[in-house]
Amino acid sequence: MRRENPAPLEALEDLRDCTVCPRLCHADRHSGRLGYCQTGAGYSIGAVCAHQGEEPVLSGQSGLCNVFFTRCNMQCLYCQNAAISRTRGPIVEQALDLDEVVLRIERILDRGPSAVGFVSPSHCVPQMKAIIARLNDRGRSPTTVMNTNAYDRVETLRSLEGLIDVYLPDLKYLDASLAARCSDAPDYPQVATRALREMHRQKGEAVSLDSRGLLRSGLIVRHLVLPGAIENSLRCLRFIAEELSPRIHLSLLAQYHPTPAVRSHPDLGRSLRPEEYEEVLCEMERLGFENGWTQELESQREYLPDFSREDPFANP
Ligand code: SF4
Repeated sequence: MRRENPAPLEALEDLRDCTVCPRLCHADRHSGRLGYCQTGAGYSIGAVCAHQGEEPVLSGQSGLCNVFFTRCNMQCLYCQNAAISRTRGPIVEQALDLDEVVLRIERILDRGPSAVGFVSPSHCVPQMKAIIARLNDRGRSPTTVMNTNAYDRVETLRSLEGLIDVYLPDLKYLDASLAARCSDAPDYPQVATRALREMHRQKGEAVSLDSRGLLRSGLIVRHLVLPGAIENSLRCLRFIAEELSPRIHLSLLAQYHPTPAVRSHPDLGRSLRPEEYEEVLCEMERLGFENGWTQELESQREYLPDFSREDPFANP
């Protein structure tokens, strides 16, 4: 059952005294008095493109239409999308209006994808709601996917119940010191575990698929195994299995590849070793996870997305 979504412009009123994410900046993003995420009240977009690289139930044959918001409420040292996600310095961005964003999405939906993925939307939830409302007004009801770092407030997630079909959160850290050092978010473990509990409350463990085998509704939790941080990975898996459920769909990612920004970092400057991933895989098996996806270590990609291109993920 779809919830009534406020009119597009009404959704943006929340940005006048912004408490959208756990940073609780109380910034007036309409006035240019910006908060931690350095994001205003408009539609600053890194890319709108069909993307094949997500889990098979999301990508299908045609990919899904991903909308990449710029900036972020976390600042991960190793971010693959740093060209659009930094809060300091120049980034690649296009300042669009709502109609332009919706038009670009519609052009991609017309080529076959049936889902729209919002990538790193935690600081742009009002804009995401406005886009969904405008798509619905225009008779479109794609599967909506929230591809989030899970640094999300429970209150904000509650306001999305019935609007978001698929939650696709990361669980990055259950080690506050690692979260502080790598992502400037020492409270990430408390925030993300609360956020995951709320997503689990809304969606449960079961997923529903359409006639083409594509995900229509559900929860998939992603965890990226970081080099030199295996204990953190084991804690994340134990939380999901023991505090939520081992029946949750888990996507265990081995694709970490150092960006130029962390090449000289003692741990983050290298790729994952086979024995590190193996240790995490063994724990996943021991905990009884039944649903989800793992990766080959060969999936560590040598190239970064290029946001100066219309499709940043196409092979050059
Ligand atoms: S969304 Fe941005 S301005 Fe709002 S609370 Fe979070 S970091 Fe601060």
